[in-house]
Amino acid sequence: MTPDSLEGAHSIARRGLMLVLSSPSGAGKTTISRALLKSDGNISMSISVTTRQPRPGEEHGKDYFFITEDEYHRMVKAGELMEHARVFDNFYGTPRAYVEKQLAEGHDVLFDIDWQGTQQLKASAGSDLVSVFVLPPSIAELEKRLRGRAQDSEDVVRNRMSRASHEMSHWPEYDYVVVNRNVEQSISQVNAILVAERLRQRRRAAGLVAFVNAMRGES
Ligand code: 5GP
Repeated sequence: MTPDSLEGAHSIARRGLMLVLSSPSGAGKTTISRALLKSDGNISMSISVTTRQPRPGEEHGKDYFFITEDEYHRMVKAGELMEHARVFDNFYGTPRAYVEKQLAEGHDVLFDIDWQGTQQLKASAGSDLVSVFVLPPSIAELEKRLRGRAQDSEDVVRNRMSRASHEMSHWPEYDYVVVNRNVEQSISQVNAILVAERLRQRRRAAGLVAFVNAMRGES
């Protein structure tokens, strides 16, 4: 465990937490994730593996690890993925080693995964997991954002629109729900969730015992 930078000189060691952001494609979760990663030094992104083709501008090792189906099935079999799911027509999964190392060192990890992966992580990680569902302000706005990307074909856009309402039905499974009307406001809401969750007593129990004992010993 490492000190929580938010607490400065009086830092208290704690376990890292897993912050999941889920939403239908186009609801704005990528923008929120990027802003959070930029402004906060103690959280890093879990980079997933996927069998889908890279979109223009996407980089191997930065956006995803782009792998073959054979490699994906090998990783699943070897237990190298913390969770894995088929989303649309492709397979996705979270490499285990990176996440476990970060958490053990007291660093937080951000996940951009769907509801299936979130359910799996919740079952295995319990209270280490904090889940946030990002809703678009309306279906019309969601469609506008998906078309605005202009990277996916018409078929893909239509397919994702039809999946959006199904995906959105999973919001009750999440700890928090953010309606992304205004991206700046959504970023500060997710940041507030992160700040509060870091202060939870149960994440800092060991550090607090040492801290309070030391104070009492001084008196
Ligand atoms: P895209 O192909 O547009 O990058 O992502 C499609 C969907 O797959 C998104 O909802 C994204 O959250 C989800 N996804 C990305 N990586 C993972 C992963 O490792 N596991 C799971 N379960 N879903 C993922």
